[in-house]
Amino acid sequence: MELLEQRIQKDGAVKAGNVLKVDSFLNHQIDIGLLNEIGKEFKRLFADTNITKILTIEASGIAIAAIVAQYFNVPVVFAKKTQSINLDGSVYTTKIHSFTHQRDYDVIVSKKYISPEDHILVIDDFLANGCAVEGLIDMIQSAGATLEGVGIIIEKGFQDGGKRLRKKGIRVESLAIVDAMDDVTGKITFRH
Ligand code: 5GP
Repeated sequence: MELLEQRIQKDGAVKAGNVLKVDSFLNHQIDIGLLNEIGKEFKRLFADTNITKILTIEASGIAIAAIVAQYFNVPVVFAKKTQSINLDGSVYTTKIHSFTHQRDYDVIVSKKYISPEDHILVIDDFLANGCAVEGLIDMIQSAGATLEGVGIIIEKGFQDGGKRLRKKGIRVESLAIVDAMDDVTGKITFRH
């Protein structure tokens, strides 16, 4: 998506440790105009599916998923990070390793909000090693729901999450794929 790539070039900052900061338009301050264009693009890419729900993970996924969901006219469910897993069987749980915080989180979704009839689109801001998306898919499978695909705003193509998911036959649509980035020069190149 040309508009997104231009914005990443203009306002993205490459940090050590393979981290791309996009705080000025996506992860801290949010450009709603840009997110509306992103929502339209996901709707176009997944026009052949019959999505009933969008699933994401807190915190930064929520705002993105909420705007995207307006174009699909479906609810958003966000997986919650939790300290204590509720053992009464009312939630799906999984463990997710956070790339940016370098720690594991237990993550839950209430069984009330995903059912076997659901056709789910997973949305997230970044795809790096794929742990976050794989955790969400794990809970979709536990619920017996159908995964229609994964929509990612920025995929870091030099990390292997995207490759692993596609190898499993999962449909992954990334609006920008970063091929390489350099924290010394600040140079970012995209895959087309
Ligand atoms: P993964 O689980 O695929 O390794 O990492 C994806 C998650 O880590 C995303 O939910 C995102 O919040 C965070 N993340 C991974 N790489 C980056 C990055 O380069 N920049 C930012 N801002 N977040 C990232």
